[in-house]
Amino acid sequence: MNILIMGPAGAGKGTMAERIVQKYGIAHISSGDMFRAEIGGKTELGLKAQEYMNQGLLVPDEVTIAMVKKRLEQDDCKNGYLLDGFPRTLPQAIALKEITEQINAPLEVILILDVEFDELVKRITGRRLCKDCKSIYNIFFTPTKEEGKCDKCGGELTQRADDTVESLKVRLQSYENQTVPVLEYFAEAGLTRKVNAGQAIDDVWNDVQAALDPFQK
Ligand code: AMP
Repeated sequence: MNILIMGPAGAGKGTMAERIVQKYGIAHISSGDMFRAEIGGKTELGLKAQEYMNQGLLVPDEVTIAMVKKRLEQDDCKNGYLLDGFPRTLPQAIALKEITEQINAPLEVILILDVEFDELVKRITGRRLCKDCKSIYNIFFTPTKEEGKCDKCGGELTQRADDTVESLKVRLQSYENQTVPVLEYFAEAGLTRKVNAGQAIDDVWNDVQAALDPFQK
């Protein structure tokens, strides 16, 4: 099965992507994870990408397309793939169509995780992480018993650097400006399936499976 998962920051893409690759046994291709790995390895590509990522900006198309093309050409993608975070722009979507034609593995379904703006703001700006045991809380939905202290280990709670309202606005603006045209491009091909991702995780997962199961070979 060849899937693309889309949705704004905070829609729960990461969680659903993990469950999808496990259930359907396909390769997970996350452009964000690939860039982070390049940065970790201090490669030339990583250094280039870092300048953009640090500002919440998109990495230029040529760089991103070349990286994902190379990954899609690897053997494990023959059993199916889940694209996560790519394509984010119209030129990337057009390039992807060419690449998948070349490798004879066209996209079969585009899963869109749909969440209201106010819910996203609460999910992202309310997220807190324990410095010590890395447990995740949310001050609106799953607050700790004592403010600022982890329930499990008593560690201090922190906030991710890019989980501020300002950074979220930049990320959502780029989704609106650059990624929504990609959704429109795919909608024309009739491949999109929308899921209400404003529900509890297990309910979202049930709806995701209901959308994907018919495509299983
Ligand atoms: P993500 O983990 O998907 O939120 O991606 C983190 C960052 O990596 C983004 O803010 C971009 O700077 C960069 N990035 C990931 N995927 C792409 C893409 N398809 N096009 C351009 N930049 C990307």
